[in-house]
Amino acid sequence: APAVEPPYLKGLNKEQREAVETTDGPVLVLAGAGTGKTRVLTTRLAHILYMRKAWPSQILAVTFTNKAAREMKERIGALIGGVVEGMQWLGTFHSIGARMLRRHAELAGRKSNFTIIDTDDQIRLMKQLLETENIDEKRWPARTLAAMIDGWKNKGLKPDDVPDGEAHGFANGKGRTLYAMYQERLKSLNACDFGDLLLDTLSILREHPDVLADYRDRFRYILVDEYQDTNVVQYLWLKLLGGGAKESGRHNVCVVGDDDQSIYAWRGAEVENILRFERDFPGAKVIRLERNYRSTPSILGAASGLIEANKGRLGKTLWTEGDPGEKIKVQGVWDGEEEARNVSATAEDLHRQGHAYSAMAILVRASFQMREFEDRFIALGLPYRVIGGPRFYERAEIRDAMAYLRLTAQPDDDLAFERIVNKPKRGIGDASVQTLHTFARGRHLPLLAAAREIVETDELPPKAKKALNELAASFARWSDVSRHLPHTELAEMILDECGYTDMLKADKSAEAPGRLDNLKELVRSMEQFESLAGFLEHVQLVMDVEQNETDDKLNLMTLHAAKGLEFDTVFLPGWEEGLFPSQRTMDENGLAGLEEERRLAYVGLTRAKKRARIFFAANRRVHGSWQSALPSRFINELPEQHVETTVDEGFYGGNAGFRDNMSGFASTYESPGWKRAQANKDAGYRRTRPPLIEAQAWSVQTSDPSASQYARGDRVFHQKFGYGRVTGVEGNKLTVNFDKAGEKKVIDQFVTRG
Ligand code: ATP
Ligand code: MG
Repeated sequence: APAVEPPYLKGLNKEQREAVETTDGPVLVLAGAGTGKTRVLTTRLAHILYMRKAWPSQILAVTFTNKAAREMKERIGALIGGVVEGMQWLGTFHSIGARMLRRHAELAGRKSNFTIIDTDDQIRLMKQLLETENIDEKRWPARTLAAMIDGWKNKGLKPDDVPDGEAHGFANGKGRTLYAMYQERLKSLNACDFGDLLLDTLSILREHPDVLADYRDRFRYILVDEYQDTNVVQYLWLKLLGGGAKESGRHNVCVVGDDDQSIYAWRGAEVENILRFERDFPGAKVIRLERNYRSTPSILGAASGLIEANKGRLGKTLWTEGDPGEKIKVQGVWDGEEEARNVSATAEDLHRQGHAYSAMAILVRASFQMREFEDRFIALGLPYRVIGGPRFYERAEIRDAMAYLRLTAQPDDDLAFERIVNKPKRGIGDASVQTLHTFARGRHLPLLAAAREIVETDELPPKAKKALNELAASFARWSDVSRHLPHTELAEMILDECGYTDMLKADKSAEAPGRLDNLKELVRSMEQFESLAGFLEHVQLVMDVEQNETDDKLNLMTLHAAKGLEFDTVFLPGWEEGLFPSQRTMDENGLAGLEEERRLAYVGLTRAKKRARIFFAANRRVHGSWQSALPSRFINELPEQHVETTVDEGFYGGNAGFRDNMSGFASTYESPGWKRAQANKDAGYRRTRPPLIEAQAWSVQTSDPSASQYARGDRVFHQKFGYGRVTGVEGNKLTVNFDKAGEKKVIDQFVTRG
């Protein structure tokens, strides 16, 4: 190993450094928001590589989103200088699971080119299943079944493992049978759902000791971010690969997390995995980080005061340096529209003062809240992007386009075929589709292949026959062309030729132009992939919008999607009872639900570095109907000294009932949590200053980048993008106009003179 101290260690504090340098043996880093957990994990990975303790391909590193995985890869390159090739096991649980499953697909009864289906396809399959089984879908909705099966999968239960009692709830005890049938159906379609990516790999590891031994040998180091949100199946998977108590293994497992940020219990996450870790990995070193580097004392103080109201916390100390900074501004507005106007106006003001839009984010509790903001931004021409989660790819037009692309690449993808066979409408009605189904089943053919044969018969009415014939011919042509045409051009061609673009152009509804834009965005997002197959794989897994990260756009996302991120300015709209905390969550999970909502509020506030603005509206339109709303109890739980409240004029106008509620604000909303928070106001949030380890400039990160050896006009070569000319230099970041790939931002270490 190199003798000089590696430069990336310098900026770390003592505890962070310990977490980085304790490479061997189990390590649990348990620490609050913004204390550098992710930074520690990234540096640790770089350190392992730098010290030559393992090859990139021997490290398993789990991040919560694909975006986080990409960023981590980039930073590691920057930390140790140079391109890090071969980190193929860095990704989300799902993407790593998919990679493993493709390597051993036959052990799970699939072929390695299996399709990963999404919720929509999942529900459609279940509907079909309920229909064949003559189960009344009105009484036993497919969605409920899907949620139940997902739940079992998250717990690591295969159909045979589902306890008797649990299976009785659905369709008079048919739950387990339906689960088994659904799995069979997936196999026959050569498909997997998200749950299978983990459960099937877990089963393979359990049932094939040789495969397990192989992976244990491969993965010298395992690292996991956002550990508090792992579910049972993920935990079992880690325990198996990392070698738990009784198994042999290297035990070089490092997990980092924060119990106060556990926000995915509704998806099966178990915060208890933190406690299990110490039990199952004996001798685990537990490291606590207490200094928050992200937020001002005001923001941290407000967030800490809020989370105090939760019981059942592991408890931790957090402090931060510097000016108290702006107080949290809480603002009451008349309705959602005014809220959107207010947020946009503030964002524009800040922008005029020189703040980048990309350093601001709006974090909503529910995705329906986004529309009002999007409308406003579009009206103003304010640049924005929607981040994270499946929203973009869940949009109908995107799913349709994806179905066309999937079917072009994988002609046996029946789910895709069903989705688009009559979209746009081409005269192939339900009855014809039914006939085709029967025909296909009888001949054991995929639907598209069956379509080619059925048009030779007279099974279908002439119009349907003609349309189906044309459709089948188109797919044959597209798949032919796909061999030489760049995939972005192929996508445009398909969308034009299938009539989809024309359909939207002819559509006079208000949504149609937006849909066309979305399709354009889809094609644009394909540019970064080398092949159609690569893109399809990405979308199936990722589902977050690929965007040009450098664009200066306002960020819009749900609170759930904001986990791990940070912004100078954070807008938190919709802090109203029922919306946030969400009534549904409270109804379903009582106090536990309320506490999870509070953690979500904590996550939201702690995303802010410099300023946080909270909004509540007096009137809110929820799914089309107006409701008068009351300010969220979370507002009252914020320690007073960190908050500044303003209520708009319009707020009182015309809503007497609401005014009464406002005057009762203090007494009505003194929840027990609020009182506790007041009592603990100073106890939980230590503002004393322990001896400081001077924070150093994070030199490799961007704040102080070294000057580049390249200049505008230089010809360079990049591994992935080929030859190009430098058009801009910003520290170690270059903007290069590549001959083939167009303009991209790259780190200068990744290019050579060309
Ligand atoms: P979260 O719980 O929200 O995921 P985290 O614990 O992962 O937060 P990071 O995102 O790693 O925290 O770090 C928060 C911010 O603090 C980042 O901007 C990071 O670069 C900065 N930071 C972390 N450690 C240091 C340090 N030792 N010196 C200076 N800045 C630091
Ligand atoms: Mg983090």
